[in-house]
Amino acid sequence: IILLDKVNKWYGDFHVLKNVDLAVRKGERIVICGPSGSGKSTLIRCVNRLEEHQGGTILVDGVELNDNTKNIGHIRREVGMCFQHFNLFPHMTILENLIFAPIWVRKMPRAEAVETAMHYLNRVNIAEQAHKYPGQLSGGQQQRVAIARSLCMAPKIMLFDEPTSALDPEMIKEVLDVMAELAEEGMTMLCVTHEMGFAKSVADRVIFMDGGEIVEQNTPTEFFDNPQVDRTQAFLSQIL
Ligand code: ATP
Ligand code: MG
Repeated sequence: IILLDKVNKWYGDFHVLKNVDLAVRKGERIVICGPSGSGKSTLIRCVNRLEEHQGGTILVDGVELNDNTKNIGHIRREVGMCFQHFNLFPHMTILENLIFAPIWVRKMPRAEAVETAMHYLNRVNIAEQAHKYPGQLSGGQQQRVAIARSLCMAPKIMLFDEPTSALDPEMIKEVLDVMAELAEEGMTMLCVTHEMGFAKSVADRVIFMDGGEIVEQNTPTEFFDNPQVDRTQAFLSQIL
């Protein structure tokens, strides 16, 4: 469902992604880890065209990402994304945050959008907060709202970029639990995270990036117990 073939990207002179090849099948759960500055966020952002790549090909849901704005519109509708900072609209209630895109992008009738929103707020255990504003919620609650907001668009793929790294420890689990549930239901997921417990229990494949390259990828068991490359071993010894 996602295919990257020899993807290259530069920021000015800086070569940030180097010949990245990656194929993700429908329903696969991938965790991406690697040191700060290795290009993880850039890679994820290229997959929904928040960033443009300069060399190689990216196909998402059968659509090539290029300057064709119709293609980009398709991708934005089918791919959901959650960031480290939740990016909720602060001046809208939780419910309004959730129904905004379904109404304006999917042209869903308001009553149906509200029903869908309440369904997903229930799923992330936060329905009773629907009429509060984001600022009145804890970080963990806001992140669960952000995930529910993406799900209201019925995405085929979910991208996560360090969704728990801005959270206090006691809130990390509630967000990881929601993500694990999504995985359980068969969502295709590409997650940048350093939560190695999550990687071990949820991922089908762990990818290690360093210096703009995919250095190593393997099943979680092999990846953690038997890393093949020195740079992976060095990284794992720092974080585990
Ligand atoms: P972290 O773990 O800190 O989030 P990362 O692996 O997500 O790191 P990226 O954010 O993808 O790393 O950045 C990769 C490199 O590209 C970094 O060296 C960064 O300084 C550089 N970079 C990122 N965004 C830009 C930009 N808009 N313009 C120029 N350089 C950038
Ligand atoms: Mg990043």
